[in-house]
Amino acid sequence: MIVKTQAIVLRMIPFSETSRVVLWLTRDHGKIATIIKGAHRRRSPFVGQVDLFYTCELLVYLRLFRGLHIVKECSPLKPRTPLRSRWRATACASYFTGLVAQISPLYAPHPELFRLLDMALDYFADQSALELGLFWFELKLMKVMGLSPQLKECLRCHHPLKEDNAFAEGPGARTAHRAKACATRMASVFSCVRGGVLCKTCAPSAGAKALPITPDILGMLRFWQSSRSWRSAQSAACTPRQTRDLERILGLFMQYHLEIDNLARATALSILRTRISP
Ligand SMILES: [Zn+2]
Repeated sequence: MIVKTQAIVLRMIPFSETSRVVLWLTRDHGKIATIIKGAHRRRSPFVGQVDLFYTCELLVYLRLFRGLHIVKECSPLKPRTPLRSRWRATACASYFTGLVAQISPLYAPHPELFRLLDMALDYFADQSALELGLFWFELKLMKVMGLSPQLKECLRCHHPLKEDNAFAEGPGARTAHRAKACATRMASVFSCVRGGVLCKTCAPSAGAKALPITPDILGMLRFWQSSRSWRSAQSAACTPRQTRDLERILGLFMQYHLEIDNLARATALSILRTRISP
């Protein structure tokens, strides 16, 4: 059958001298693999119409017996040109699309995941690539995958957890928060296996795959969990210690639940932190 849908390019692989295989995340049909015949021919109607990180309107012939589907028409809706030249943003976009390609099953429609990836690529095409934006994406990804960590109460005794919510209170509060954060004592434990936080009293029962979590990090994760836009990631300011804690907690949580290796993530973060001497 022929279907029309929006789709984001996740990967592109040369197939022959003139054709290429494109892996897409579609809005209505989940992840699909297509072949674009004659894509490399000079007079092909697909020249300039499809590339990595594009969101396109796709007319595709979905074969009954699956395999590679044939693209009939493709027109770019969002080419995201800045991602061709801003290498930090490109590193993040590659990490995001690679991650989604890895965790999405074929033919499993997930419109929320499509919206999140579409928004994330828009963000990194328009803004400075930030580590906090990357962490924000990861937390939201876990949410749309139904794996959002429990951050409101202790998973064992159900007592409400104390957080430092200065991140939600504006720039003045953030400044005070940064100073206070230096003196914050370890209070709770983030357990990847249990999928959330254990209070200080219950922390000894956390077992493996657990990391200490301070109230400021708990406050930031809760603030992001309830926020809707990238602005919340932009409005936050982190100390190096806070950035390191976020990287470790989210990295271990994703690795455990999504069963992925974190090599692409480590590469993206390394590129984000690269400084070029003038
Ligand atoms: Zn407890």
